Amino acid sequence: EKQESMLELEDIHVYYGNIHALKGISLHVQRGEIVTLIGGNGAGKTTTLRTISGLIHPRMGTIKLEGKRIDMLPPHEVVARGIGHAPEGRRIFPRMSVKENLELGAYLRNDKDGIRADMERVFTLFPRLKERINQKAGTMSGGEQQMLAIARALMARPKVLLLDEPSMGLAPILVEQIFSIIKEINEQGTTILLVEQNALMALSVAHRGYVIETGKIVLADSAKALQENDMVRKSYLGEE
Ligand code: ATP
Repeated sequence: EKQESMLELEDIHVYYGNIHALKGISLHVQRGEIVTLIGGNGAGKTTTLRTISGLIHPRMGTIKLEGKRIDMLPPHEVVARGIGHAPEGRRIFPRMSVKENLELGAYLRNDKDGIRADMERVFTLFPRLKERINQKAGTMSGGEQQMLAIARALMARPKVLLLDEPSMGLAPILVEQIFSIIKEINEQGTTILLVEQNALMALSVAHRGYVIETGKIVLADSAKALQENDMVRKSYLGEE
């Protein structure tokens, strides 16, 4: 019998008014995996993550976390069940300090010692944030804000971390850094669903991947097979 998925989407349909943005998305993430969802502009990557997080509700289809449906729940209950979301465009609270942003990430928890331990853990992952603990988040560089968005999502101690374009707008050296941290977070036990336009980097850290085009999954395979796939190489890896 097949192992129960950590996260499973089945035939998800999402509309924005009359726009049919997701046209029957099915995908699964096993416990311990990094799975990447790659695709071009407007393919439906962000919409998929927002639907998993409960920010948008699907018109049709089911989403299960450890076998239990979450697709009807409001966002705060989805967080409570164990989904952490580091959204695109960072969306940290710019006028609050790094520390306050991190504390907000843990707002559903009341285990003070656990929160303190997790704050130390994210500072180990992101030493820059510790150096800037009292700085207003909005005054930090793009890369630091991106790190803060991921760190804040980790403060909820999620079972599954959703990452939306963590490499967006970052200098190449920071892209390398962010991806190596993503790998480390996964090795410490967090299951990850990673949305990226940077297919090259995403496939280099992921175990498996899906390619999404205009709201549909068009390819699903191991990361290695996708790296070698002609269509992926032409469309997403910038090869002729
Ligand atoms: P990008 O990386 O450019 O954000 P994406 O793959 O994340 O692309 P989505 O943002 O999920 O794509 O968008 C999927 C489709 O839904 C697109 O056609 C987009 O124009 C449309 N869409 C997204 N958000 C809205 C919205 N709030 N209202 C109407 N249409 C939307």
